[in-house]
Amino acid sequence: HAKGNGTNRYQFFDDEMNRRVVERTLLENSLRSALKSSEFVLEYQPQMDMRTGQIVGVEALIRWAHPALGLMLPSRFIAVAEECGLIVPIGDWVMRTACLQAKAWQDNGHPLVVSVNLSVAQFHQKSLLKSIVDALQQAQLAPQFLELEITESILMDEAKGGIDTLRVLRNIGIRLAIDDFGTGFSSLSYLKRIPINKLKIDQSFVRDITVDPEDAVIINAIIVMAKSLNLTVIAEGVETQEQYRFLQAHGCDEYQGYYSSKALTADMFARQFLQPS
Ligand code: C2E
Ligand code: MG
Ligand code: MG
Ligand code: MG
Repeated sequence: HAKGNGTNRYQFFDDEMNRRVVERTLLENSLRSALKSSEFVLEYQPQMDMRTGQIVGVEALIRWAHPALGLMLPSRFIAVAEECGLIVPIGDWVMRTACLQAKAWQDNGHPLVVSVNLSVAQFHQKSLLKSIVDALQQAQLAPQFLELEITESILMDEAKGGIDTLRVLRNIGIRLAIDDFGTGFSSLSYLKRIPINKLKIDQSFVRDITVDPEDAVIINAIIVMAKSLNLTVIAEGVETQEQYRFLQAHGCDEYQGYYSSKALTADMFARQFLQPS
């Protein structure tokens, strides 16, 4: 197509844009029907205590079991769901399903905290509180067993009243974690003012922790800061023993990553991590 000739080039971009619009519309429509025909599933990834080696919680991660395309990861569809508003009903489904699952584990003698990811679009919905409280009530799950993962971007727009919402959630007893910490721009003074429980160090800092001195310095600073603010700190994306050892030696509280397990279906998860002992 585009060979540097101006006219052809515009033609190329037009075609490309049309293709994208069509693709997007198709995706939007199939997301809508996926919700109706229950094609979404949750997988669960364990969060491990670094001192005791015990599992302390699980993060619920959505997948789309597409009838033709197979299992799709959230990077393929969450952004579009956010843009077209479908993230709200999808997020409600995630919340209800995760709460029911946590309650079922609890009834089997495994009181685990379940973490649910919230996108910005969900967070600013008027129905957010009701949706969360409904999910807890429906499952008969105590709020202490639900953790919400938010990103730094929610905190930056003070005008939108994000901090007030966080206070309400925290007062109910729900736990709050900042996901992908270090990739946004939240200032230290912000962190002091918001009622969070946990910082999740983004996996991009963990990846090269043992080879890149700058990443090591950053991780160390986050851990020290979290401690001084009385927050639990968890590292994401821990894949190797070297990363694990580094984090343990530097006082990180918890970790999550392929080193212990990838995200698993509820059945697989129970089989591997919740054996009666
Ligand atoms: P996240 O919340 O930061 O989740 C961590 C991601 O890292 C997950 O990808 C997880 O499978 C992956 N991961 C875990 N351990 C390792 C590791 O050791 N190495 C590597 N390379 N990756 C690891 P996943 O499941 O594809 O989810 C991607 C993102 O999609 C999540 O990032 C989250 O932002 C979003 N997401 C997932 N589920 C939901 C949901 O129910 N609602 C919303 N709004 N967003 C979701
Ligand atoms: Mg997360
Ligand atoms: Mg993350
Ligand atoms: Mg992420």
